[in-house]
Amino acid sequence: MKKIVLIGAGHSHLETITGLGKTLSDRCEITLISNENSVPYSGMIPGLISGHYTFRDCHINLSELCNRYNVRLISSSASRISVPKQLIDTPDDCHKFDIASINIGSVTNIQSMTGSNEMALPVKPIKSFIDGIESFLMTVGKAPAKAKHQVSVVGGGAASIEIILALKYRTEKSGYNNLNFSLITASDEILETHSVAVRRKFRRILHQQGISTQYNKPILHVGYDHMRAASDEIIKSDLTIWATGAGATNWPKLSNLPTTKDGFIKTDPSLKVKGTDNIFAVGDIGSIEGLTYPKSGVYAIRQAATLASNIKNLLNGSPLDDYQPQKHSLALISAGNKYAVAGRNTFYACGKWVWYWKHYIDRKHMEKYRD
Ligand SMILES: Cc1cc2nc3c(=O)[nH]c(=O)nc-3n(C[C@H](O)[C@H](O)[C@H](O)COP(=O)(O)OP(=O)(O)OC[C@H]3O[C@@H](n4cnc5c(N)ncnc54)[C@H](O)[C@@H]3O)c2cc1C
Repeated sequence: MKKIVLIGAGHSHLETITGLGKTLSDRCEITLISNENSVPYSGMIPGLISGHYTFRDCHINLSELCNRYNVRLISSSASRISVPKQLIDTPDDCHKFDIASINIGSVTNIQSMTGSNEMALPVKPIKSFIDGIESFLMTVGKAPAKAKHQVSVVGGGAASIEIILALKYRTEKSGYNNLNFSLITASDEILETHSVAVRRKFRRILHQQGISTQYNKPILHVGYDHMRAASDEIIKSDLTIWATGAGATNWPKLSNLPTTKDGFIKTDPSLKVKGTDNIFAVGDIGSIEGLTYPKSGVYAIRQAATLASNIKNLLNGSPLDDYQPQKHSLALISAGNKYAVAGRNTFYACGKWVWYWKHYIDRKHMEKYRD
């Protein structure tokens, strides 16, 4: 029996399991190594913060999924891969593989922060982020109403905006009247990768919601109740949420896999790690040489079809297929309440119906992983 080991229950691997699990289980042993048992679907996390969704709505139960598709689940964290020995290390064991794939996502990029980061709450891992939000809300809920607390989100991308609007909506609905919100970005624009119409719409929404937006303000240090900007300006902040984009964890580099200067694993267009015969890297952690595309769940999911067919190709000794990222993808960005904005290239729409459209797509996506 050939051993296929999938490291990380990222979007690409979940999709690959549903596509390959049953069809290959008679000739291969498929193992998933995951450091989480309930895997969050990031697209629905702002909805969880807003209170539109429950934990179960937006998490995938891995034991159930793996059982259904005859996949062996190892609840642990991979810490090294040895290409010469064809072994993956977890803290208590090591695992032999004939084919391996790495889909461990990204970590919040804290490289720009030169000072202490202990006081910042990074958006990833999502579990500790959600726990951090809940414990902050518990604390401020108990504080006297007159004591104002400042909530800051550092970053200007879609995740930052969805989170700040979700938190504003949730706290307002729950009757908190002691919070101020601000969005702080190092850039001179929010949502830089989105169209002018989408940017304009969200600038207006943030303004209407009384959320102050501060541009050109790289933050270098986060302390207990403040942040320090590159200009040395001290900004009061009782909760600093850090959402400045994707960074890479360092064990792939320490395992001598080829990486970019940011630590992402370099692959061929077939998603195979450069210089290896049987290791793939997909989703945020992979970087296909010569191609530029966003690090997002949408692209991670699309890579699953190529990954699944290339695992089969390797097993059959057939040539590998190339993955071709789509030029444009549909962005559906929620605004805290049940309202969302859609953008794809020049297409633009907004309204409650866009939120329900997003809701429908997200629910459908989650149904694939349930009985
Ligand atoms: C709040 C928020 C909202 C977002 N909304 C959207 C959206 O609407 N649409 C969109 O396209 N993108 C969105 N994104 C981005 C999206 O989350 C990521 O691009 C996407 O999750 C990357 O998917 P992935 O398959 O690479 O890995 P992930 O989905 O991040 O999964 C990686 C998995 O591997 C596990 N893992 C990590 N290290 C190890 C290890 N050493 N051993 C074992 N397991 C490990 C992790 O715990 C995790 O379960 C959002 C991000 C955030 C933070």
